[in-house]
Amino acid sequence: MVAVHSTARGPALGGCRMWTYDDSRSAVRDVLRLSRAMTFKAAVAGLPLGGGKGVIMLRPELQMDASRREDVLLDFADTVASLEGRYLTAEDVGTSDADMAVIARGTDHVTGLAEASGGSGDPSPWTALGVEAGLRVACERVWGTTSLEGRRIAVIGLGRVGGHLARLLAEGGAELLVADIDQGKRALADELGAAWTDPDTALRAEVDVLAPCALGGVLDDRTVPELRCRAIAGAANNQLATEGIADLLSSRGILWAPDFVANAGGIINIAVELEPEGYDRARAEPAVRAIADTMRQIFDDAATIGATPLTAAMELSRRRVAEATAASKPG
Ligand code: NAD
Repeated sequence: MVAVHSTARGPALGGCRMWTYDDSRSAVRDVLRLSRAMTFKAAVAGLPLGGGKGVIMLRPELQMDASRREDVLLDFADTVASLEGRYLTAEDVGTSDADMAVIARGTDHVTGLAEASGGSGDPSPWTALGVEAGLRVACERVWGTTSLEGRRIAVIGLGRVGGHLARLLAEGGAELLVADIDQGKRALADELGAAWTDPDTALRAEVDVLAPCALGGVLDDRTVPELRCRAIAGAANNQLATEGIADLLSSRGILWAPDFVANAGGIINIAVELEPEGYDRARAEPAVRAIADTMRQIFDDAATIGATPLTAAMELSRRRVAEATAASKPG
């Protein structure tokens, strides 16, 4: 399945998720929900991209050997090709850069290939760089400085993004508390001189900043009343169990950096690949660091209109999509 939610600002970009669903209705719901989220994410980052998403629905009873996987990916490539560039695919949960190379045999509309193949490579370090930029702005709002020296930060999830982020924060002088369900990540904690704990303890720890970098939905009616941090900025998608949690965080005086703003570094890096000059790390870096400016604007807007950062970020996205839609209408 491919969902194209909006092409108002440019081609609809969104990863291809390969996942097992209970039924096709759940898969359709997911692809629609995720494509809409991509529209907001690209627009708030100011990218000339719309929102889309791909889903390859697996069935639990079907064995997925290498040859069947290749067939499935080539079928997906045909679907992408049929949209003639209105949808651009990328890696997502359940797909890898090797899968993108297979899809590229059937369509040109693939992003995130290895740098050696003219692509923008692994997005994770860029995502981490953007989260760090957003996190520093959250610190600036709460303590008046972007410096991380001595700042106590809990990072939950030391995966591809969280691992990079923890390293950047340690280099910036932060005092780290880290957690992962994978005990193998403890070696990284030791290397960075970070304290190690379990994810539940890290979530409720008395720290300055919490950086959720594992799964979504960690902030809910049960966990938010128990938080002891002043700010939250992390890579995990869909951190809020429901949108109303943004109000709960505000009422507790906790500043939340909207996840889809903070974690846009990967997609910003991909957008550089689509520029006429082709991919160049030197252009990607300032573009990703500009997440700091977007975050400042959102916190400013939120203060001006007396709303949460979530509302301000959604408003900024909507405004940008509406402007592009109006500009594309004749007359
Ligand atoms: P990853 O799979 O490499 O890392 C996730 C890490 O979290 C793993 O080390 C895993 O063991 C750990 N983990 C899983 N469940 C946990 C739990 N309950 N408590 C603590 N740790 C747990 O994934 P990633 O690419 O680093 O992505 C992390 C998050 O960031 C995801 O929500 C992803 O959607 C989001 N994100 C990633 C990118 C990117 O560029 N990779 C971009 C945008 C958003």
